[in-house]
Amino acid sequence: MNGNISVFCCPVCGGELNKDGKTLRCPSGHCYDYAKSGYVNLLMSQQGRLHGDDRPMVRARTSFLSRGYYRPLLDTISAVAIPHLSKAPRVFDAGCGEGWYTEELHKILQSNGFSPESAGVDISRDALTAAAKRPFGGEFAVASLYHIPLKDQWADLIINVFAPDCIEEFSRILKYGGIYVKAIPLEDHLIELKRAVYDSVYENDVVIPSYSGFELLSNSILRNIIHLPDGETVKNLFSMTPYARKTSPDDVAKLEKITTLDVTASFSVLLYKKV
Ligand SMILES: [Zn+2]
Repeated sequence: MNGNISVFCCPVCGGELNKDGKTLRCPSGHCYDYAKSGYVNLLMSQQGRLHGDDRPMVRARTSFLSRGYYRPLLDTISAVAIPHLSKAPRVFDAGCGEGWYTEELHKILQSNGFSPESAGVDISRDALTAAAKRPFGGEFAVASLYHIPLKDQWADLIINVFAPDCIEEFSRILKYGGIYVKAIPLEDHLIELKRAVYDSVYENDVVIPSYSGFELLSNSILRNIIHLPDGETVKNLFSMTPYARKTSPDDVAKLEKITTLDVTASFSVLLYKKV
């Protein structure tokens, strides 16, 4: 928020959004109310059928991330991005969830002498309820990544940690010379967790995408073992995975019995430049 002007623009007409009490209003009269928790809903009505993480998943994610298990991933994202940023970078977190990466990256940039402006968008109202409670000064909106309420070439940096790859929209909102940092899980990411729960286990397919209009500058691979000290942490991590929604009662029973586990966390952090 710059004075009363939101970083976001009107999802209907693209106009500037001004804060007017508990509402954001564009010059054409479209208005959007802030939820009690502090995020604004910029989802167009026809997108309303989409939904993301529900409240228990958000709670599990917040609990897991706040303990720093994925801190190495965040550190790699910031390390590859920083050499490409100017003094006051505009940062967009695509599929920001409960805002852990948004806030922590913002703080890392500040501690490195930058004056970032940060915005995050997610489809999940429950995730944004949690994100909006983060006091670091970023702005969050419920919106679709296929229709991002930001002006053309707004962003200097887009980060995407396991969110859908809406590259046309990302390209639209990214400046020329701006960078896109995408984190993807590698073949053996969380393989021990899968082995503990499922009878047959497959490694993840890993595809390094190439995008027209973007140059891949680097691919940083990180792999470390995370010690999950108790059953609750195991369950929290499991609920963050794509498998959580399609697990049978028998497999859930196996999950319930795990009290501690060492798991591989392995990622590629891909750095692209818009050319
Ligand atoms: Zn408007």
